[in-house]
Amino acid sequence: MPEQEADILIESSGTQMYEFIEQLFPICRSITGNGVRKTLRAIKEHLPGLEIHEVPTGERCFDWEIPKEWNISDAYVQDENGKKIIDFKEHNLHVLNYSLPVNKEVTLEELDEHLYSFPDKPDVIPYVTSYYEPRWGFCLPHNQRKQLKKGTYNVCIDSSLETGSLTYADLLIPGETNQEVLISTYVCHPSLCNDNLSGVSLVTFLAKKIQKLQNFYSIRFLFVPETIGAITWIASNEKKISQIKYGLVVTCVGTPSKFTYKKTKKGNSFLDNAVIDVLEKSNVDFQIVDFFPYGSDERQFCSPGINLNVGSIYRSDNKYLEYPEYHSSGDNFSIISEKALDETFSIYYKIIMDLVKNSYKEKERDIENFKIKDKNLMYLNLFPKCEPQLSKRGLYRTIGGTTIESDKEIFNQLAYLWILNYSDGKYSLKDIADISKIDLEVIRKSAILLENKKLLKKI
Ligand code: ZN
Repeated sequence: MPEQEADILIESSGTQMYEFIEQLFPICRSITGNGVRKTLRAIKEHLPGLEIHEVPTGERCFDWEIPKEWNISDAYVQDENGKKIIDFKEHNLHVLNYSLPVNKEVTLEELDEHLYSFPDKPDVIPYVTSYYEPRWGFCLPHNQRKQLKKGTYNVCIDSSLETGSLTYADLLIPGETNQEVLISTYVCHPSLCNDNLSGVSLVTFLAKKIQKLQNFYSIRFLFVPETIGAITWIASNEKKISQIKYGLVVTCVGTPSKFTYKKTKKGNSFLDNAVIDVLEKSNVDFQIVDFFPYGSDERQFCSPGINLNVGSIYRSDNKYLEYPEYHSSGDNFSIISEKALDETFSIYYKIIMDLVKNSYKEKERDIENFKIKDKNLMYLNLFPKCEPQLSKRGLYRTIGGTTIESDKEIFNQLAYLWILNYSDGKYSLKDIADISKIDLEVIRKSAILLENKKLLKKI
C-alpha cells in the first residue's frame, strides 16, 4: 500500500462538500442541456482531469435514443393584473422539467390541466419531469393551487427542445491494472439537495482525494444524467464493461438517516462483504437490503446483459428513498448537514481503501498461484526421436557458426534445447530450470513458444 494514505485520511471535506452543493443548487439541470454542462464544468474545476463527453441527439443506445436537448431561460404564470404568481426565477422546480415552449393566455380550467402539486404535501413544490412525452406545465404547492381564482392567465415558458446532445463526464484514475472500480452518480436533478447534489458533491471530493493515491485497480468516477446517461455510457463503453470489478452508485448521502447498503445482485461479492465490514466497524446505524430492480443506475449496471457487481450506499430510514421531502422543494438545505456528508464520505472512502488493499493482496495471490502452477507444469516433447528441426520453425539461427545472435537469442535457444530434451514426462518446468540454471520465467516463456509451434504439449 502506498504510504500517503495516512495523510489523506486526516483531511476533512464536510464544509467543502456543503459549499459545493450551495454553488450548484441554483442551476436548473435536466437530462440534457446547459445546466448539466455548467455543473460538469464546476466539477472539472475540482478535477481538472475530468473528461466531458457529448453524445448527439438521435444516437441509439441499446433500446434507447438520445433525446433532443432541452434548455430554458424563463417561465412564469401571470394573473390578470400582470403579477407573476408562479415564477421559474424564484425556484426552478416551478416548471415541469423538459416543458415545451409556450406563450399564450389560458383560462383557469386550461391552466389547471398543466399544473402539478402534491395534495398530501400541500406546502412544497413537486419535482416533476416529462422527458419522453411532449408537454408543458408548472409545479406549485397544493395550497397555492387551491387559491387560484377563475379568470385568464398568461403562461410563458421560454424553453427550447432541439437537436443537440447529451453530456456526461468521467474521470479515470489509472492503477496498475485496467481492472476498474466504478463510482457513479447522476447530475440531472435541478435544485434538490439530498437527491442528488449530495451525491455529486461527495463523488467530486472523493475523486479529489483518491486521485492522489496509487492504486492497483484503476478507479473511474462517472457523472451522468440518471438512466439515459448511464445507458449511454454503458452503450458507448461496452468493451470496457468487463474490466469493472466492483461499483457503487452514490445517491442521497447528505441526511443523518440510517446508512443503507443495497447489495449487488450477486449479494456475496467481495464488495458486499467489504461494505458490511466497514459499516460494522464504523459503529453507525445501518441496514442491508437485497438488490431490487428499481432505484438508481444500479438498475442498468446490474441488468442481465451487463451484470456487474454494483451496489449502492445511501442514507434512508426506509428500504429506499421514501423520505418525506423526496422529489420536492422540501429537499433543501434544511435536511442535509456537513456532518452527515462527512460521515458518508468516510464510509465510502474506507470501502474504496478496503477494495484497494484487497486488490494488492489479490495481485500477490495471483503471482503466487502463477508460480505454483508453473512450477508443477510438465510438457511432453512431441518430436522425441532426435531433435526437431528448429530453424525451419524460426526458432534457431539459420547461419551456423556465426556470432551474430544477441545474447538473448542464444539464451532462448539454449532454453529450447533444455526443455525439448527433458520434456519426457518426468521433469517439470521447475526441474528443468534447476538443472539448466536458466531462470524459470525464461523456461516458462520458451515452453509456451514451443507449445505454440506444436513441438510440445502439456501433460
Ligand atoms: Zn431523484
